[in-house]
Amino acid sequence: MSDKVLIIEDEPTIARLVTYNLSLEGYETEVVGNGAEGLHHAMHEDYAIIFLDLMLPGMNGFEVLQKLRQNGVKTPVIILTARNAEEEVVQGLKLGADDYITKPFGVAELLARTAAVLRRSRNEETKEAGTESGERVITLGDLQIYPDKYEVFLNGQWITLRPKEFEVLLYLAERPGIVITRDDLMNVVWGFDYIGGQRTVDVHVSSLRKKLELNQQTVQIESIRGVGYKLMVSRKSGSTLTK
Ligand code: CA
Repeated sequence: MSDKVLIIEDEPTIARLVTYNLSLEGYETEVVGNGAEGLHHAMHEDYAIIFLDLMLPGMNGFEVLQKLRQNGVKTPVIILTARNAEEEVVQGLKLGADDYITKPFGVAELLARTAAVLRRSRNEETKEAGTESGERVITLGDLQIYPDKYEVFLNGQWITLRPKEFEVLLYLAERPGIVITRDDLMNVVWGFDYIGGQRTVDVHVSSLRKKLELNQQTVQIESIRGVGYKLMVSRKSGSTLTK
């Protein structure tokens, strides 16, 4: 696989931030400041990953992404988007983006998301090559959880969870419809000797919930006041399964 990274971004400060930090990680980077040229590069060269701004002069990021996927280019794409632009994010993911980063972003987030997207795309290549088999998967509605790899696939898209978010989700998903107390989650996910308090559980559930609600409605984490949480799976029609 190529180690080249393409950055399609018209804001020099953002382009520099991405370029500088990925270069330090050993990637070769190319920056293009408009959509049409970016599309041309992406169609004709081999990249490990493409960073794509949405608001670009000429052809915007959505069009670039759509044309890429229509032409069968499967290079992983991370969208660079402004904060509070949830609709943009949803549209981008529907068009086949692999992940998104909201501006302004920190170096740690940039590198973590880049590494996660690359790991997934390499896993998929391995799967396509047929060398991987027999892995465990939990399926609930639109949600698929791969416990061995800490990966979650939701309504046709991979979603990126922090390790603790993943462990909370896994514990709830193995017990759908059952009320799990905060104490249980604390003990299982953080350990008996953790001193961070139950607020930590709530913060992680809240963040997890946002990620789950981004593009589907069939899996929900309900709060049971004063007790804890339970994961509910419903059919698209709205009826609820309490397995
Ligand atoms: Ca822009």
